[in-house]
Amino acid sequence: MTTVETMSTNGQLLGTVLAVQANFYRVQLDVEDKEDFSPLPHPPILLCTRRTRLKKIGQQVMVGDRVIVSEPDWSGGRGAVSDVLSRESLLDRPAIANVDQILLAFAVTDPPLEPYQLSRFLVKAESTDVDDVLLCLNKSDLVSLQVQQEISDRLLGWGYKPLFISVQNSINIDVLLKYINNKITVIAGPSGVGKSSLINLLIPNVNLRVGEVSGKLARGRHTTRHTELFELPGGGLLADTPGFNQPDLDCSPEELIYYFPEARERLAVANCRFSDCLHRDEPDCVVRGDWERYEHYLEFLDQAIARQTQLHQQADPESTMKIKSKGKGKQQYEPKLESKKYRRVSRKTQLQELEQLYNEPED
Ligand code: GDP
Ligand code: ZN
Repeated sequence: MTTVETMSTNGQLLGTVLAVQANFYRVQLDVEDKEDFSPLPHPPILLCTRRTRLKKIGQQVMVGDRVIVSEPDWSGGRGAVSDVLSRESLLDRPAIANVDQILLAFAVTDPPLEPYQLSRFLVKAESTDVDDVLLCLNKSDLVSLQVQQEISDRLLGWGYKPLFISVQNSINIDVLLKYINNKITVIAGPSGVGKSSLINLLIPNVNLRVGEVSGKLARGRHTTRHTELFELPGGGLLADTPGFNQPDLDCSPEELIYYFPEARERLAVANCRFSDCLHRDEPDCVVRGDWERYEHYLEFLDQAIARQTQLHQQADPESTMKIKSKGKGKQQYEPKLESKKYRRVSRKTQLQELEQLYNEPED
């Protein structure tokens, strides 16, 4: 794929896909001061189709993609996407390319800050393709500085430095803007923490833009929800995520530990005895121990193993794992030992099937 450098030096038009609607792509063009696109808003946005060549090679165009636009029709506000630059990152749900950071929004209270829920969102964010996670704690107007300090100390132990904000009292919004300006940011967090209020504050005309759909950003009641990037007044793009309170963790049991910064720290300076250590009760494990979220890790691990078992069972209903009770209502998944009888029958059947297969063409 061609690089950005060649493209811009070739004098081609570069832009970012803000939204995909049916077979159309809303592309915001990069602008340099000297350019003049008089009939268009600034920066100019063109409604584009996708070139047939891209369709033929199966090249998808998604929100966040950096694209080359050809055949601009300035008066009609139209164009065609003729190439897609290679993606820096790819977020799953919502499907957005080139996201720079995930802004995790929670409230210090009302709804109460729930450690397990916060942990789950953090692990989910860490498990994506996106490198940076920015943790914002809203409604700081409702608690004392001392309480904020306590929360902050606790989260530092988790490997995060939260930014306390108040949308209502405009506290630290300027600091937040410094983090998100000129970047592509995706906001996530449970409902009720003030995400919509924050988006409305950051993008004052967002209500106007989505007004006919609903009062809230990309949360249409009468239309299907679609992913859209909104422009921040100071530059940069912002997308909302569907409101969910418990994100699915879909990582493998082996990788899970790397989504805990405080455990990553331990693994950076020492190794467990076994390379496939799940950090449960294996001997000489350097991770297991006295850190606050270790309990969360164990719970998420059980869920990841259960999920993997389910996937295996779907692929191969005959074998896989069994649930072993670990007391206190906890369950743990372990490989199921096949009975000899079962194995014998199964191998015999397999042989018969193979023989049939080889014999058939000769019949
Ligand atoms: P969302 O569900 O995350 O989009 O949350 P909303 O933006 O709908 O806000 C939920 C409630 O929290 C609303 O009643 C807001 O007025 C309130 N709220 C939002 N930000 C703040 C804040 O900074 N301080 C206080 N005290 N309330 C806030
Ligand atoms: Zn270990």
